[in-house]
Amino acid sequence: MLSLNDSLLFRQNALIDGEWCTADDGAVLSVDNPADGAIVGRVPKMAAAETRRAIDAAQRAFGPWRRQTAKARADLLKRWFALINEHADDLARLMTAEQGKPLAEARGEIVYAASFIEWFAEEARRIYGDVIPTTANDRRLIVTREPVGVVAAITPWNFPAAMITRKVGPALAAGCTVVLKPAEATPFTALALAELALRAGIPAGVFNVVTGEPAAIGGEMTSNPSVKKVTFTGSTAVGRLLMRQSADTIKKLSLELGGNAPFVVFDDADLDAAVAGAIASKYRNAGQTCVCTNRIYVAREVHDAFVEKLAAATAKLKVGAGTEADVAIGPLINRAAVQKVSEHIADAQAKGARLVLGGEPDERGGNFFKPTVLADLDKSMLIAREETFGPVAAVFPFDSEEEAIALANDTEFGLASYFYSRDIGRVWRVADALESGMVGINTGLISNEVAPFGGVKQSGLGREGSKYGIEDYLSIKYLCMAGL
Ligand code: ADP
Repeated sequence: MLSLNDSLLFRQNALIDGEWCTADDGAVLSVDNPADGAIVGRVPKMAAAETRRAIDAAQRAFGPWRRQTAKARADLLKRWFALINEHADDLARLMTAEQGKPLAEARGEIVYAASFIEWFAEEARRIYGDVIPTTANDRRLIVTREPVGVVAAITPWNFPAAMITRKVGPALAAGCTVVLKPAEATPFTALALAELALRAGIPAGVFNVVTGEPAAIGGEMTSNPSVKKVTFTGSTAVGRLLMRQSADTIKKLSLELGGNAPFVVFDDADLDAAVAGAIASKYRNAGQTCVCTNRIYVAREVHDAFVEKLAAATAKLKVGAGTEADVAIGPLINRAAVQKVSEHIADAQAKGARLVLGGEPDERGGNFFKPTVLADLDKSMLIAREETFGPVAAVFPFDSEEEAIALANDTEFGLASYFYSRDIGRVWRVADALESGMVGINTGLISNEVAPFGGVKQSGLGREGSKYGIEDYLSIKYLCMAGL
């Protein structure tokens, strides 16, 4: 049983217009703990009608919210930030119960999630316009920036808090209002954040959370003309669908979609640092992040030494429930995830890959999977093309810098990439050549609130975090003042 210091953070209702509510027909969805299959709780199974009400509430709240001063909005966001940090232990416990990640990692995510609220509270006061040198003396040309309006946000289960605050932080800072649909697997972290937003004094209707049927809720969000922007983090397939559905009402879109991150180790790299970077970027969240390394390319000269060191470091990672001490790898989110990871490993082995470590479900059963190292992979294998989203390190050898770059770019995705080299010329050449929105150079961890997160190619549109992250929630207005 989930025990929290503040039991009111465990909300089993959706939030519309400042009221905690049930689905119109009383239907509910249950949420399982991926570590043991126990039911954590239930949330309303809402559909289009409830979503429409939430959008109407957000539309009503928009006028007064945008008219508040930037400082007033920033003050409320700062209060929300403080409350999230104050309740970090409870929020982490909730997150581990519904998502499975180790408690320390969950707590780290809460601090990271809160940092976006703080950052955008600061950015709220820096939304400047421009005065353009005029083309005629009786005219003044002025640019102002306005909030786009009601924002619909759809978020995934792998970061139940941070994927929300990266969207809601800048939206609210800009003066937009939000209707959020969190992932079915992880609604409780979202609802707890909403409870804290209410306590912070964020007005009714400014931040609404609707739980339930993805297709019905997403259908309403993308077709309702009051929604001016859709922001989504999740799979490329659903991103494409939402983009298509948004076409009729020409919505602004931010899409943070799949990745298939390459991690390249050149022969001049510091091998121990590269191994540490690979471990951090590969096994965080049991390999279930869109910036997790999916393909490790290692120069043939150092390939065997790298594999040996990587296997030794991987063997030390403890598998277990997120609530147990010293656990590094929690359960995968569900059975389908275990299935996909098993398929990728079987496919690679059938095509000649060498299994170095792991390769099978953990003895604990359920959704636990052993951290795995595979070597001698090639590009015919599924792992080379698809996002594995699990604890599998797949190592491919390469023979030249050109080949490494070509292999790294041989994907429809372009989110993150990583490489290790100590040659300054190579560092610039490779950083320029990699087709991705983010490049980690001699590091496996790149995300923070001050830097722009996002992809190119089919990994998406827009950026989250940083000074750029608020732009996605603003539109430009040009004032041409004539007859002066
Ligand atoms: P994942 O494979 O990580 O679960 P999804 O893209 O399926 O990625 O899920 C990300 C988010 O998209 C979740 O909140 C999910 O409920 C939502 N989602 C899934 N299908 C749809 C849909 N047809 N319309 C709107 N949202 C959807």
